[in-house]
Amino acid sequence: MVQPPLVAYFSMEIGLEAGMPTYSGGLGVLAGDTIRSAADLEVPMVAVSLLHRRGHFFQRVDARGRQSEEPVAWPIDDFAKLIDEQATVDIEGRTVHVRAWQYRVKGESGHVVPVYLLDTDVSENQPWDRTLTDVLYGGDDHYRLCQEMVLGVGGFRLLRALGYTDIRRFHMNEGHAALLVLALGEEKMASQNQSDSIPNELIEAIREQCVFTTHTPVPAGHDKFPEKLARQVLGDRWWAILKSCGVEETLNQTQLALRGSRYVNGVAMKHGEVSHGMFPGYPIHSITNGVHAVTWTAPSFQKLFDTHLPDWRRDQLSLRYAVGIPTSDIWAAHVEAKRTLVEHVNRESNAGFDRDVLTIGFARRFAAYKRAGLIFQDLDRLKKIVRAAGPIQIIFAGKAHPRDREGKDLIAYIHEMRDALQGVIAVSYLANYDMEVAKMLCAGVDVWLNTPLPPMEASGTSGMKAAMNGVPSLSVLDGWWIEGHLEGVTGWSIGDRVEACLEPQSGMDDCHAAELYRKLEEKVLPCFYKDRDRFIEVMRHAIALNGAFFNTQRMVVQYLHNAYRLGQAPVQ
Ligand SMILES: *Cc1c(COP(=O)(O)O)cnc(C)c1O
Repeated sequence: MVQPPLVAYFSMEIGLEAGMPTYSGGLGVLAGDTIRSAADLEVPMVAVSLLHRRGHFFQRVDARGRQSEEPVAWPIDDFAKLIDEQATVDIEGRTVHVRAWQYRVKGESGHVVPVYLLDTDVSENQPWDRTLTDVLYGGDDHYRLCQEMVLGVGGFRLLRALGYTDIRRFHMNEGHAALLVLALGEEKMASQNQSDSIPNELIEAIREQCVFTTHTPVPAGHDKFPEKLARQVLGDRWWAILKSCGVEETLNQTQLALRGSRYVNGVAMKHGEVSHGMFPGYPIHSITNGVHAVTWTAPSFQKLFDTHLPDWRRDQLSLRYAVGIPTSDIWAAHVEAKRTLVEHVNRESNAGFDRDVLTIGFARRFAAYKRAGLIFQDLDRLKKIVRAAGPIQIIFAGKAHPRDREGKDLIAYIHEMRDALQGVIAVSYLANYDMEVAKMLCAGVDVWLNTPLPPMEASGTSGMKAAMNGVPSLSVLDGWWIEGHLEGVTGWSIGDRVEACLEPQSGMDDCHAAELYRKLEEKVLPCFYKDRDRFIEVMRHAIALNGAFFNTQRMVVQYLHNAYRLGQAPVQ
């Protein structure tokens, strides 16, 4: 018998495949990887997100590195199937009809986790309401709050319309879905003939059912809506219900999700601690992120693992036994992944990359705190290093949010540096970073670079994708790398202490740049060019120690044991 879904996973974005622009970055890719591993593990789960008919955006970058954005055109019915069930949400007093498209994520054994992508482009809706599920992170606060009504409330009601009446746990992947707390509360109030405030025992019952994962220590990552806007969108009755949950003058989605959840977690050990400091009074646990192993492993490494670790697709603990794979086989698989990447880079950007040169990769959303330009802090020093210790070439990729001036300037800066280094260091920037480019990049470079300003990187996952393919990280000690780093064994750190300041410290950039240069010159380059056997040893440990742990199979099992605890029936 097929088990009904017991866990409902809500996420504003979800990376299902590269052809579906329903994600913007790490949060969405994590959601997709979570669902893929849940399907592998046969977890009775269902997921809800928005359709994002026009995507996040398609990125074009001109010769000087200026980004422009275009809506993504994608053939929705090639990927997902429209279902009959619908729901409605009241937004600003209007009834908005919500329909859904079903996408099926199939696990290793054939178990399916359905994903419902909500869509308000329905003829009964007013023209503006029809656009509510068009653009991921588009528009202003007003648009955003309306989208969050569709996700939290529309998503909850759609699951009920589908007949899913016995959902034990609702998992909010970030605060965007927090309004589901009110939808669940309203249902419980109706069953007790309450109408305008949620009594404490009902809040306890809601909390029993909800799990909340917070994803960023960056304040802008936490949605807050002023009272006037929230009252206008939610209506007076829901505003009153919200108040009775203990939410203050603004609608703070993080606060609502914290208030409404029994289990709250950050996405790495350090991030759990930092979040606890941000929200004192709430116990905040940690479940460190992971990546879906099969999705992020290059074809040559899939073949290698199939040969040496035949169970690895079903059981990622097997990756631990990568310590026994001959180093020559690991190197051969890497050479193949690197060739694919170098050929792609040369075709795309005419950068003249050389397969024998140490290749550094840096790709993620372009946000100021990730400091994409750090490696260019001192060009003379960098040039001296390559003259003394051996050549390097660097690939960048990543989109900036359309309204992020600093992020966009950084893309232009990378292009300036590319021109300034011409003939000395080949630099390439690949436009329109997506899951397909990420797969090629994370697997095909020799070293994965990460330079966030601590403690802003809650976890980071692209270094984990690299580790799956034996690519070591060179990274600031922040997020997951605090846990995954063993110096000279799984990669190298930039700086040898874990720093934590919520305010950017002056001098931190110079200090980290100096450390980055020192590690490149004294450790990474000599190891790569003069002690190849030891370099491959590091690659092997990246797989065995980090691939075996920083995967979503281990992560979903931790959610099952610590957060969902399905064996414990909720208080009704
Ligand atoms: C993995 C991934 C990210 C997240 O990278 P971080 O290292 O966590 O910042 C962003 N975008 C795409 C397309 C990815 O595949």
